Amino acid sequence: MKWKKQTREEIKTRVFSALDENRNYDSDYILGIPGSYLDTEQFYRDADFLKDAPYLKTFINNPNHIGCHTLTEDKGEDLFRGTQKMEIELIDLVSEEIMNAGPKEIDGYVAPGGTEANIQALWIYRNYYKKEFKAKNAEIGVIFSTDSHYSFYKGCNLLSINPLPVEVDFETRQIDPQNLKATLEKAKEACIKYLVINVNMSTTMFGSVDDLEAILPIIKQSGLPYKVHADGAFGGFIYPFTNPDNPLDFRNPEITSITLDAHKMLMAPYGTGMFLIRKDWMHYAATEEAQYVQGLDYTICGSRNGAQAVSIWMILTTHGPKGWRKNIQSLMDEADRLCREFYDLGIPYFRNPHMNIITTKAGFIPEDLCYKYRLVSDDYTGKAKWWKIVVMPHTKGEVIDRFLEEVKTRLKK
Ligand SMILES: *Cc1c(COP(=O)(O)O)cnc(C)c1O
Repeated sequence: MKWKKQTREEIKTRVFSALDENRNYDSDYILGIPGSYLDTEQFYRDADFLKDAPYLKTFINNPNHIGCHTLTEDKGEDLFRGTQKMEIELIDLVSEEIMNAGPKEIDGYVAPGGTEANIQALWIYRNYYKKEFKAKNAEIGVIFSTDSHYSFYKGCNLLSINPLPVEVDFETRQIDPQNLKATLEKAKEACIKYLVINVNMSTTMFGSVDDLEAILPIIKQSGLPYKVHADGAFGGFIYPFTNPDNPLDFRNPEITSITLDAHKMLMAPYGTGMFLIRKDWMHYAATEEAQYVQGLDYTICGSRNGAQAVSIWMILTTHGPKGWRKNIQSLMDEADRLCREFYDLGIPYFRNPHMNIITTKAGFIPEDLCYKYRLVSDDYTGKAKWWKIVVMPHTKGEVIDRFLEEVKTRLKK
């Protein structure tokens, strides 16, 4: 087992030794790199408290993690190899221990967020179809449910490929097979010849998880080649812990790439998306012209702060697998409690039992309370059909109690 809980002291020692292995702008001769430590007028560089703050210390040392280190290992930029090795460990840990890949089967990097990770997937598959099948952009289509994140529209727009959104059932939030068939037929008429499929390892609005097994026969029937990406930006650090039989992880040979977001459920700072893909795919995103970068660049973003990878590594290592599972379980228990209360109050809702999102049908909880407690609606133009609650560590207990009390008082009137 790679993933182990470590003490604060052990974590500190590991991060500081990685920083020692990095070259330092203030102690090494570094002449040609367009980077430096953070501005010294603004940022404390030698403050005493940094000795006990491994993340801040890494942030201030400002290591650049440009490129994809699982791929280039020791051929990449060598100035920051210490923290880059921590990023490799992190990618291995998440793909093998959380997404159940075999050892060293996966490449990946810490992206600015789920948006980039999703677009990175589209970019790789688009280039694959272009290179291997001589496809034209107009012949490539991306299948995703209408509950999917808007980054799929954004990615299609940027890459000049075609979004093919598919309707979901209003009650179950599952992809509607009839609509999928119709969408595929229409796509074929429009000369789409190659498919990318997104399946959600939890949607943002409903916590629904797409049933790949249910839609695959329909996709196969179309006869078009396809590649499958799983968007776990919301659920990637939840669902694998609540459903050990996760059908969308790397045990499933149909899944080629996965997105996760540590800045959602894992409570990491922003800038901690994760992109994971099976070996032998990353090269479709190589920018050959990036020759001044040792090991080339394979990412959309280019330069990025190595402290973000370190922060995810630190959080996972602080909790360990048991600790994280326990955290998630306590959110599930709280979500269960909320569901029981809604049931008793006659408020209809959607809930995936493996997720911490409860989405209530509009028209039951008084709307001013939805606003007061910052529930999120599917539509703010006055046509809301749903209002959702995400059970998070900061909402447990008191906040939910107060909300429920107010709802109960109002519904009695
Ligand atoms: C949040 C989210 C994204 C986008 O992630 P950012 O980190 O905001 O770029 C993509 N997909 C899903 C399902 C999400 O919840």
